[in-house]
Amino acid sequence: MSDSFNISEIFGEYVFNDSAMRERLPKKAYEKLMEAMKEGAELDPATADIIAHEMKEWAIDQGATHYTHWFQPLTGFTAEKHDSFITAPDERGQVLMSFSGKELIKGEPDASSFPSGGLRATCEARGYTAWDCTSYAFVRHDAAGATLCIPTAFCSYTGEALDQKTPLLRSMQAVNEQSLRLLRMFGNTTSKQVIPSVGPEQEYFLVDREKYLKRKDLIYTGRTLFGSMPAKGQEMDDHYFGAIRPRIAAFMKDVNEELWKMGVPAKTQHNEVAPAQHELAPIYETCNLAVDHNHIVMEVLKKKANEHGLQCLLHEKPFVGINGSGKHNNWSITTDDGINLLDPGKTPHDNLQFLLVLTCILKAVDRHADILRESASDVGNDHRLGANEAPPAIISIYLGKQLDDVLEQLTSAGVATHSIEGEILETGVDILPDFMKDATDRNRTSPFAFTGNKFEFRMIGSQDSISMANVVLNTIVAEAFKEACDELEAADDFESTLHDLIKRQAKDHKRIVFNGDGYGEGWIEEAQKRGLPNIPSMVEAIGSLTTDKAVNLFETFGVFTKPELESRAEILYETYAKTINIEARAMINIANKTLIPAIIKYVTHLADSVNSAKAAGACDISVQTGMLDDCSTLLVEAKEALTKLEQVTDAGLAMEEGKEQAEYYRDEVREAMAALRTPIDKLEILVDKDMWPFPSYGDLIYEV
Ligand code: ADP
Ligand code: MG
Repeated sequence: MSDSFNISEIFGEYVFNDSAMRERLPKKAYEKLMEAMKEGAELDPATADIIAHEMKEWAIDQGATHYTHWFQPLTGFTAEKHDSFITAPDERGQVLMSFSGKELIKGEPDASSFPSGGLRATCEARGYTAWDCTSYAFVRHDAAGATLCIPTAFCSYTGEALDQKTPLLRSMQAVNEQSLRLLRMFGNTTSKQVIPSVGPEQEYFLVDREKYLKRKDLIYTGRTLFGSMPAKGQEMDDHYFGAIRPRIAAFMKDVNEELWKMGVPAKTQHNEVAPAQHELAPIYETCNLAVDHNHIVMEVLKKKANEHGLQCLLHEKPFVGINGSGKHNNWSITTDDGINLLDPGKTPHDNLQFLLVLTCILKAVDRHADILRESASDVGNDHRLGANEAPPAIISIYLGKQLDDVLEQLTSAGVATHSIEGEILETGVDILPDFMKDATDRNRTSPFAFTGNKFEFRMIGSQDSISMANVVLNTIVAEAFKEACDELEAADDFESTLHDLIKRQAKDHKRIVFNGDGYGEGWIEEAQKRGLPNIPSMVEAIGSLTTDKAVNLFETFGVFTKPELESRAEILYETYAKTINIEARAMINIANKTLIPAIIKYVTHLADSVNSAKAAGACDISVQTGMLDDCSTLLVEAKEALTKLEQVTDAGLAMEEGKEQAEYYRDEVREAMAALRTPIDKLEILVDKDMWPFPSYGDLIYEV
């Protein structure tokens, strides 16, 4: 790669974006595609053929030999099946490169090997991928050469969504319709479309790849299953925003370059709180694109890390005792002509449209806190939420001083008459400029925080797709907007009904607002008093998907059918049990094959030194015998715990898949895993470092 480049020249180089389309497509085809993208108009077969042909020509110019329908099945990852552009050889043995509209629009991967949660029997294999023309196709370069990737939705022969994209597109449609209704009531006649905007901040760890390859736990599960804390953790806060080391900086430079070429607007990068932890944030985009691009970000981070002799860990909790990683999902709703519905303006108290939107969001989040919590659940995230490093498992909203004050006026006096203004920040140093402070401070303990003109949902796990969180946000807000519009459109007196509605929503849902310390002890009790749900883990959260309330919500807006929700719940229970099962098996394997043999060697070595010290007539051998006793005792404890873990895991595996099995893994298997880890981690501190079979936490996080 070149050392210097002009970002504007390379940005989007690998993307069949608007400028590539304008350049390549006949005007008419371009216009029809724009209609399809903006208004959902259907493309006729002839136009689809023209677009496919031009897309292929463009991709071939980029070196592409294959195309793939790139989709997001319920595995949590992306999937693809590659086809080359070649046609069957003609009688002279020559092939042509071809790509038809049909091939662009519809693909047919075998659906039976992807999770369907009972929606599809194994023999019912047919599934379709359908082109999402609102997310640009792109060419990916890797060891396989160059491949044209076409973002697609994935559903079954019978039309059920089997992926993350289909419900997202449906939820965007719901929020679009209801937001337009709302805007029209306030006299807006110009906006044609309302789209959620999303900017996801991605946290990750980087470790040395050689060391990573020595840790089977990291390889199999993405996190360490053994390991004691090094002498120094993150207590000095010296990594956060610290200077970026050259090796990491070189990696980041390559990541940025690749992302820019892929059309991902990577913007911010810095070191995070924990040693070896970093963050990347792109500029926000439409929700759908942001979800796709976040998948690309995760792929590129992993790929580029390997090229730099590094390994990128996206797991939520790679190291016990050290802060884990998450994703902050910054979310707002914006019109096609640039109006942000979450922009309060300078004087929010008299911005009635904003106050209606805000109180609708309070209502939506209060009513559906359980589903929102679920949307941020994944197996790895259970280690973070509520553990004083990430938001608590209780959903609440942080509004900040200014909006909280407006809300207070609304609920006490019934009207809001003034807004607190930002003040001048005086630095006390003459040469530094004084500037206007924001009217509102930040609160990093809040799961759902208002940050000026957007909400930041901070609970999502670092390796999870951000799709479901946005599906939930879009749909619950669409519901609150719908109810408000139903009431206001039917009102004789719009003004007074509007005032009453804002006041009522503020009063009824004020309990969801919490501006205090979410990590504090008191909050759990306070939340309980307020009747807010506290859902401690993923397994308990899954049930919220299939309550009558959830089914009613999602069916009303055509986002999920009841069978789709049930299938998703089933997949989640299975995923939970399978993930913990892999972790338990990995522990058993590592303990049996690597750790216990190494510890026995060390114990034998100690016994030898006791004997030779005795033989040499040493006057005091208490250190050697003491060490021998301690290590032998812990070794016995470890072996017993290992046997127990084997039994418990076998029993778990024999159970029928579903909720009960997931609960069993959460309670019994995890406890047995912890019981094995404890003596081994103690042994790691005692055993000669040269005899410990793999790199320690200290080696991993400080020697990058
Ligand atoms: P903060 O410092 O509040 O976290 P940043 O400016 O660093 O905010 O932005 C964090 C993320 O939020 C970025 O991805 C940014 O593009 C995104 N963002 C900014 N404004 C909006 C908005 N109106 N809607 C959605 N995302 C936004
Ligand atoms: Mg942020």
